[in-house]
Amino acid sequence: MSETSPKLRAEMEGIPTYKPGKPAAAGGPVAYKLSSNENPYPPLPGVLETVTAAACNFNRYPDMACSGLMNELSERFGVPLSHLATGTGSVGVAQQLIQATSGPGDEVIYAWRSFEAYPIITQISGATSVQVPLTSGDVHDLDAMADAITDRTRLIFVCNPNNPTGTVVRRAELERFLDRVPGDVLVVLDEAYREFIRDPEVPDGVGLYRDRPNVCVLRTFSKAYGLAGLRVGFAIAYEPVAAALRKTAVPFGVSQLAQEAAIASLRAEDELLGRVGSLVCERTRVVDGLRAQGWTVPETQANFVWLRLGERTVPFAEVCEQAGVVIRPFPGEGVRVTVGETEANDIFLKVAEGFRKEL
Ligand SMILES: *Cc1c(COP(=O)(O)O)cnc(C)c1O
Repeated sequence: MSETSPKLRAEMEGIPTYKPGKPAAAGGPVAYKLSSNENPYPPLPGVLETVTAAACNFNRYPDMACSGLMNELSERFGVPLSHLATGTGSVGVAQQLIQATSGPGDEVIYAWRSFEAYPIITQISGATSVQVPLTSGDVHDLDAMADAITDRTRLIFVCNPNNPTGTVVRRAELERFLDRVPGDVLVVLDEAYREFIRDPEVPDGVGLYRDRPNVCVLRTFSKAYGLAGLRVGFAIAYEPVAAALRKTAVPFGVSQLAQEAAIASLRAEDELLGRVGSLVCERTRVVDGLRAQGWTVPETQANFVWLRLGERTVPFAEVCEQAGVVIRPFPGEGVRVTVGETEANDIFLKVAEGFRKEL
């Protein structure tokens, strides 16, 4: 056998691996997965039927242009078709945005800690990550992010609400920030949790993009719409950006099942958003419960809560798991806990209470 191996790009060294939320342990008496910000509700019967029917044709390639879904989105958001692009989840679209804008020597700015896909997709393209620490309140430091812009900056992610802290940036500060960003730098508003926002001061990215050709809004069907397993997300942006997304898309990436499920979900929006409303009520109950126990919990507008536990992060995750809920630890920093089924949230609150007493 040859001593040499195929030459890979230098960037392949040291790419952080994406850590999927741990699955709930099989075989235990109860096991709930609160580690991936998934929607705990099972598929709506109508959506499931649509997908099942579409499955009869999976010997065929999907509609590569996602025409049905694009038309539906265009109408729903009041944006031209030329401003839309779909992808394999919004992570897929985010990766295409980096591919289209940034290569070796270019810089991508984002808050840290934020969504763990950002450093991975940045490094894959050979660009350099510029991580701007969150404020002491775990919020994006937009002034520091604007200060970090150089002539190498190509793209800036603003994750609103931020994963994993759940915190938001509001209209005035976001508009001030956008006014400071040069027009040739793309700002990506990652709004994966948009439907969970109840703070009226958090602007809708789709409103902000309209008179800003350097803003791109990312949305997904994975969270509020409960289609995480089907991989479909989309972007809204002006034509050069949206066109670049259509060019960089993996051909036939979004399956027909995903396309039909997304259309059916948009049509069943009332019911799905009703479920989101219930999860938001649960979120309030969880946050209030934690605060009553004495925890400091940042204001969350997403379907998860963040506890900054520092060195106690891993032990906390372990006791949660023993009690039947799997959460997402970021060792040395804190835990992100998805708002899930009522029973799961109850277990989590109980564990948090016991842990708090031991501190
Ligand atoms: C979950 C999540 C996404 C969505 O991922 P999909 O690829 O659409 O499943 C995007 N951005 C953030 C910040 C997320 O937390």
